[in-house]
Formats: sequence, structure tokens, C-alpha cells
Amino acid sequence: MQASVTEWLDNTAERYPDKIAMVDEWGKITFAMFRSKSLAIAAEIRRRTIGEHKPVIVFLEKSGRSVVSFLGIAYSRNFYCPIDTDMPVLRVNRILEILQPSAVITTEGLYERFRQFDFHGQILFYENIEENEINEETIIPLSRKAIDTDLLYVLFTSGSTGVPKGVGIRHRSVIDYIDWVTDKFSVCEKDSFGNQAPFYFDNSILDIYSMLKTGATMYIIPKALFAQPVLLLDYLKENCVNIIFWVPSALITIAKRRALKNVDLRKTLRAVLFCGEVMPNKQLNYWREHLPDIIYANLYGPTEITDACTFYQVDRAFQDEEPLPIGRPMKNTEVLLLDKEDFLITSDQMGKIGELCVKGTSLAVGYYNNPKKTSEVFVQNPLQDEYEEKIYRTGDLAWYNEYGELMYSGRKDDQIKYMGHRIELGEIETAVSSFHEVHRCCCFYDESRYRIVLVMESDIELAGSEIRERLQRQIPEYMLPGEIVYLSKLPLNANGKIDRKKLKADMT
Ligand code: AMP
Repeated sequence: MQASVTEWLDNTAERYPDKIAMVDEWGKITFAMFRSKSLAIAAEIRRRTIGEHKPVIVFLEKSGRSVVSFLGIAYSRNFYCPIDTDMPVLRVNRILEILQPSAVITTEGLYERFRQFDFHGQILFYENIEENEINEETIIPLSRKAIDTDLLYVLFTSGSTGVPKGVGIRHRSVIDYIDWVTDKFSVCEKDSFGNQAPFYFDNSILDIYSMLKTGATMYIIPKALFAQPVLLLDYLKENCVNIIFWVPSALITIAKRRALKNVDLRKTLRAVLFCGEVMPNKQLNYWREHLPDIIYANLYGPTEITDACTFYQVDRAFQDEEPLPIGRPMKNTEVLLLDKEDFLITSDQMGKIGELCVKGTSLAVGYYNNPKKTSEVFVQNPLQDEYEEKIYRTGDLAWYNEYGELMYSGRKDDQIKYMGHRIELGEIETAVSSFHEVHRCCCFYDESRYRIVLVMESDIELAGSEIRERLQRQIPEYMLPGEIVYLSKLPLNANGKIDRKKLKADMT
């Protein structure tokens, strides 16, 4: 029985030592090299007596090196947390405060930036370690001690009070998920993934670990190409990428620019999978017209349940304006649709909206070092109280259609998805509230114009450029508002809170 994801790398490196595992902007790496570099990292972690079950952050450009580091950390029986190299210092510091990492893997080139952070652990420079000669006997026995409930990674997502939440995921959850993915989509060593998802975003789990398990190749697509749809499609074609798992925003851009007419992917692409936000049928239909004979699948799920928990493989025609189902639970996962009183909504209660809750091995251990937030959403199954059984309350609303498939119907809170990024509007508002000129502020997402609107009551009207510049020190670029509006008074509801719904209705 498999206990750790490192066993995949052991097996794959033995079966396909010279096969290319990953290709990035800087080069390529075979499975044998991948494994020996990861073991070198694990050996260094051990040499530094960092211990086991400790958080190690990875502060590297998105590259094959990052993935090598993830596996090195796993071999050392610790868990990794990737930090975006563009993240503002304040936000990184908030993460470091929660995580208290024991070590960081970075490069000498990135160290200038890294040293601004409030970090007290050990520093490992990737380039000084990767080629180290190692004695496998010192590392392999340690990795064999691993059990499948060990933490594999912690990924941070937006938090409504301005403090990011670190979702802790175990090896078993990833093993289960990837077993399902590779089986469902018949992934094998002949496949090539075109990776879009940043490694701090959980969609990347599918690409990384499917590659590791099966011996497929993962192309880490240069980020800049996503702004140039034709070049992006050329890249897929030239490299014979045959599976993509992207956020809908990336697929929508291609559809909007009508880029598929310029590049024929009929002979190469075999599966288009997506997850992370709503995929509109209008743009999906564009893809389906140009590439009618391939697999399309809508995967749904939050980071807290290991990337995805339901899926719908497209098997019928849809009108442009119809919503696409999020489908049915994956194997070994159960979805409970609960009404406001926590009664179960069954699939014969068509159209009745409830909160989508998830049960199963995929559940995170909770939010790292944050028992309060954890207990709010990882709760006892309200349908039974005879034994302890956790469910995760996603905050997503859904209903069953006439086929018994789940349909997504928005959020019950103020979390949004913008260009595939998960954002708590409260995180932006907390940052804006720190400006001394501002009395009150409120954000909403204008779906029709794809923008985050910030509305403020303030002593003076600050220039938009100044607001953005100040905000950039606290929140990531993708959270910056696209429009800023000043009002003399923000509307309040009966409880004296800002009435976000009214504000949005008045302004859109
Ligand atoms: P993240 O944790 O970043 O993966 O974001 C999870 C959230 O994205 C979910 O709770 C949903 O609100 C949304 N989401 C994920 N997949 C889908 C999908 N296929 N359709 C609609 N919304 C989705």
C-alpha cells in the first residue's frame, strides 16, 4: 500500500529513467535526474537537522526546480509551502507568522528579495545542493517511515479578515485524487500536460502528480504566453501537449480572441479539463466547434478538499446561455447538499438550493495553526452524531438538475473568483481600511465587466494610482480593484453594516 507520493517518483524513475519529466523556460529534466536532485535536497534538509513534520517554504521562480524541491521536502518527511516570488512583503510576513517555517529553499539570485521577509529558519540555496552526491541509504529509510496521514503541503488562500489561511493536505488525499484522475482520463507515460496553474494554486496538483505517477511529461508553460493566445496554442502544438487542465479564464481568452482558427490542434490535443471557476458554455461551445472529438471535463472543488471533488465530463450539447453542470462526486468522495436547517437535499428535490458540503479522504487537516477558522468550516456531519465524522462546508451553493447532476449557483459569502484567483473581498477591504484617510470602504465584483469595484468614504480623494501602489504593498496584484468610486455615504443595512448587496445593485 502506498504511503507517500515519493513512491511514485521512485517507481517512475526506475521505469523511465531517461524520459523527460519536466520542461520549463530554462531547460528539461529526466525522471532519474529529478529523483537524484530531490534526494540531494532531502539529504541537505537532514544534514541541517531540521527534523520531520516541519514546514519548509519554497521561494523559487515557477520552474522544474520548484517541483524537485517539493519532492525533496517530501522525501525528508517534511511538508512544503510554495510562496509566490511576487507576493507583497506584508502578506508573505503574515504567512510566515502562521507557518513558522523551519527552512526555505531559494536561490542566491532571489535572496535579495527574500531577505526583506521576517524569516528565522535555515536558508538552503538550491543551486548549491542539487548536484550533491548522496548516499541513498541515509534518505530512503527515512522516506519509508512516512505514513499517508503525514502532511504533504500547505497552500495559502485568501482570508476574509486579511489573514491568509493555510490549507494543510496529507499524502493520502493526493494519492486518492491522482489515482482517480489518472484512471478516469487514462493518463499514461505517452501523455504530455501543459501546465498553467501556479504552484501555489491547487490546480497544479493534478499536473504535477499525474506526471509523477505515470511518467507523463509536464510542460510548465511560460506565464507570458497566456497573454498571447496564438503563440500559446503554437507552443501546445509544437510540444505535442495533449492534456490541459486550466482555469476557465485561460480557455475563455482563447475563445474570445478566436485563436483556434489559427492553430489546428486536432491531431495533438486529446483532453481539455478545467476547474476553479464557472466555465461559460458560450466559450466552451467555441472550443467544442473547433475540437469536437476530444474530452472536455468540468472539475469542481476548493483547495480544502484537494483540488476537486465533483466532475462532469461533457456528453451533450448546451445552448450558449445554459449553465454547465459540475456533475457528480468523484470516487471515494461524498457530497452532501444541506439546506439552511442542515437537512439533506436529495437529487429528486430538483432545483432546491443548498450548501455543498464534502465528506471523505480528500478533506484537508484544516487551516494550519488556525483552530478557530478550522472549526467554523470543518464540522461534524450534522446528519449523524453517533461517531466523529468531519465534513467541509464549502460555502458554495448548488442544486440538482433533472439528470441528478449538481449545478453550481454561487457563494453564500463574499468570496469571489477573479481570473481563476480565489479572493475574499474582506482581504482587500482590510488592506484599504489601513489607510488613515479612509472612513469606510466596501468591494464588490462586477461580473458583467469582470472587475473588482472599490467604493470608499474618505477625507480626501486619493488618486487611483496612489491607492493601487499602497495596496500593492499588502495584497497580490490580482486583488487590486479595477475601479475606484468615492461616495459621501455608503448604504448601511438594519444591523449598521455596509449593505454590499444594495451597493452592488445600485452601481451595476
Ligand atoms: P480554490 O480553493 O482556489 O480552488 O477555489 C475554490 C472555489 O472556486 C470553489 O469553492 C468555487 O466557488 C469555485 N470553483 C471551483 N471550481 C469551480 C467550477 N468548476 N465551477 C464553478 N466554480 C468553481
